[in-house]
Amino acid sequence: MVCLRCGEELASREQVCAVCGANLLFPCRNGGSSTSTGMHEKTAAVLSYLAGWITGIIFFVIENNKFVRFHAMQSMLTFGSISAIKYNIFRKFIEVQ
Ligand SMILES: [Zn+2]
Repeated sequence: MVCLRCGEELASREQVCAVCGANLLFPCRNGGSSTSTGMHEKTAAVLSYLAGWITGIIFFVIENNKFVRFHAMQSMLTFGSISAIKYNIFRKFIEVQ
């Protein structure tokens, strides 16, 4: 089984995460949603998409929560490549002029 708070692989009979101390029997009450920024992990994940790759980078750097970092990375890759494509189209347009 995997710890919901820190993502660490643990023995299935453990009741408390040996790494971060999250209660595995009641993950909703204790851990499971804690983030470095103190926000709910889903809130932080959504916010990482808010301003495209910029917030993606910010959350990827400041956040330790694996769920949030996954979405932050996805935000960076998605919006980063969109920005790169836009930039190339813009540059070609300028060169034509
Ligand atoms: Zn843990």
